[in-house]
Amino acid sequence: MAVHRNEQLVFADEAAESSNPQEQEPWNILLVDDEPDVHTVTRLALKDLLFQQRPLAFVSAYSAAEAMTLLQQQPEFAVALIDVVMESDDAGLMLVRHIRENLHNNNIRLILRTGQPGYAPEIDSIRLYDINDYKTKPELTRVRLFTSITMAIRSYAQIKQLEANRNGLEHILAASTALGKPAGMKKFADGIVTQLCALLKVTEECLICAVLNSPDEQPKVLAASGRFSCWMGIPLTEVPDKRVRQHLTQVLKAQHHVFDNGVGVYFAGTDNQALAAFVDLPRALTELEQGLLQVFCSNIAVAFENLQLYTAIEQLAYIDPLVGLPNRNGFIAKIEQQSSQCALEPQAVALVDLDNFSYINSVLDDAFGDKILCAVAQRLQAQLANSTYIARVGGDLFGLLGAAADLTTERISAVFAEPFALQHNEPLRISATSGLIVLHQQPGSAVEILKNAGVALKQAKHFQRGKTLVFQTELAEAARDRMQLLSRLRTAFSIERLHLHYQPFVRLADNATVGAECLLRWKTDDGNYIPPDRFIPLAEQSGMMVALGDWVIRSALRWRAGLAGRVDDNFRVAINVSQVQFCEPQFVDNLIEQVNACGLQGHHVEIELTESVAADDLANVKHKLQHLRQHGIRIAMDDFGTGYSSLSILRSLPIDRLKIDRSFVSGEQADLATNGIAQTIIALASHMQLKTIAEGIETEQQLAALLQTGCQEGQGYLFSKPLDEQQFSAWLVQSAVRPG
Ligand code: C2E
Ligand code: MG
Ligand code: MG
Repeated sequence: MAVHRNEQLVFADEAAESSNPQEQEPWNILLVDDEPDVHTVTRLALKDLLFQQRPLAFVSAYSAAEAMTLLQQQPEFAVALIDVVMESDDAGLMLVRHIRENLHNNNIRLILRTGQPGYAPEIDSIRLYDINDYKTKPELTRVRLFTSITMAIRSYAQIKQLEANRNGLEHILAASTALGKPAGMKKFADGIVTQLCALLKVTEECLICAVLNSPDEQPKVLAASGRFSCWMGIPLTEVPDKRVRQHLTQVLKAQHHVFDNGVGVYFAGTDNQALAAFVDLPRALTELEQGLLQVFCSNIAVAFENLQLYTAIEQLAYIDPLVGLPNRNGFIAKIEQQSSQCALEPQAVALVDLDNFSYINSVLDDAFGDKILCAVAQRLQAQLANSTYIARVGGDLFGLLGAAADLTTERISAVFAEPFALQHNEPLRISATSGLIVLHQQPGSAVEILKNAGVALKQAKHFQRGKTLVFQTELAEAARDRMQLLSRLRTAFSIERLHLHYQPFVRLADNATVGAECLLRWKTDDGNYIPPDRFIPLAEQSGMMVALGDWVIRSALRWRAGLAGRVDDNFRVAINVSQVQFCEPQFVDNLIEQVNACGLQGHHVEIELTESVAADDLANVKHKLQHLRQHGIRIAMDDFGTGYSSLSILRSLPIDRLKIDRSFVSGEQADLATNGIAQTIIALASHMQLKTIAEGIETEQQLAALLQTGCQEGQGYLFSKPLDEQQFSAWLVQSAVRPG
């Protein structure tokens, strides 16, 4: 029976003892014939036949209709032996057409038999319906039947193999594209589990787990399904099933696949990271599966490397490399995630800004600044990390997110209570100012939340340095109002809606008009005035003050030049100058240039500064003032007595005049009989040979008291309110005729 062996077709009694054909899945053969005898004979003839170690199993149908039902129920037939003439002359051919065209079963091999030669199918049908063989019944001797069946089964096996190959390749392709997409390591491992299951055709409650072997960590179970699910996340050493544990350990140690007593596959990544997966396959891998697994694994290894690269890039995008905390992107992502989760407890976000950090950075060096940032990051983590998400959202700005009950102003302050020990340096005290916002039901977008926390922080920087300020909606509204006002101010400036009023200075001894202070006025379209106390701080903060101040200087000087001949030559125009304006390196030169350009001299001009100028480099301020005075321009210290460093400034700066703040003249603290502040200032000024002028004189009594204490000049509603140019001209005429 050599011919049978060649075809891998043997009879069971000839088969090797070692394999047990009964356990092998049989080749299913469908017999379709309306003559029961044919069934009996065929079964007898092919009984005990093996192909590739697998037996044949027969299913009988006695009509084409019955065969159709059977094929519907059990699609996995390798071969159908079909009689052509049954319930009708062409019932067999109809069945063939049904199989191919309706059931779309293109795998099953078909052998047609007929009792009468006249019922043979057309050649075309044989080709069209992919019929393997056609024989008349007498032609089909036992040997011919063997040969015909063998060839049909072999052809079926080849088709199946091709199909498996194609499926496997499809899986690999799908896995490569699915896993090639950036996903977390956990998702990636889940993906491998799913794809391996599909490739090896293991059912959903499959037996796979993946292990990540990173250099710093113990290998642990990353993904698992089926009965392995309960081991998710546990270290490999704690996997209870000894066989699985040993298998995975062996794979990771050997760094290659182990297909012995279960399937263990290995995926190498970069940086000594590797993944291993175990499938508890109850059978040996076929050669085809082994080949497919090799291809699968090499594809996955590439995807795994990509994932690691992606993770590293993601780290860069979301982690601050200096302090190792999440950066602004990371913080925003976390807030967004938190907002979308509807946390049970109310959450809070805080922005913590180190005080004077840029100063420390510039006076010492950047490396020292870095050390401070790292120390603060560590302290924040040590004290808050168990309940709070911590990020570095900007240079010296840290972001905190946690339950409102935990993230309190007290806890933030406590972080900075103790000095920071920086390597080899003296312990350093660092303070920080923070803005905190409690997130309510609808917290808004992360960017909005950060903006509001920023509003609170800005406010705190202004009013509560070194402390934490909690955001209130009014804060945001106030900030919004300020922004609107600023934009209106810009427009007003550009369309020349700003103008100057002048308030006379009167010599108290003889009532003579000795000068005037120019005061900015903004009249809105509806005829209302917006007080300078409101818009000037805005202009100062936005950087607009420099241009605005320049315009004020030019206008005031032109006005003063226009008064020539109508006022005494000593008549001075006093111009308020903001600190930001004065700080400009070109300020002094510009002013002198403009004084000259208007044909004026220095003594026609006085500038009014506030004590805040002293916040700058004092030597530089002094130098500038000296320069101005050399040109005859005089300096008055405005609002004197309201600042904090009055005396020290007085001693160190070259000034001409003190302007006593109106709060000491007509304000609540101004009871001149009992309150000696104005008196003290005047005495001090006289001692230092400084001139004095009192602001805000409203009553004769105030005037009398000031006169008595030796104040030289005054300004106030008692004499005149600030006036526009025309009104001021009228005032000049009027005051000239007024008795002194
Ligand atoms: P200041 O320089 O202290 O100006 C004196 C303020 O006192 C003026 O307020 C003036 O109208 C007001 N005043 C004068 N007499 C009396 C009085 O008898 N009673 C009361 N209650 N007030 C009196 P104003 O015009 O509202 O200006 C407020 C502040 O705005 C000024 O205070 C000054 O600091 C600033 N400012 C005004 N114009 C300019 C400017 O062109 N540049 C700069 N940098 N600041 C300006
Ligand atoms: Mg002033
Ligand atoms: Mg003043």
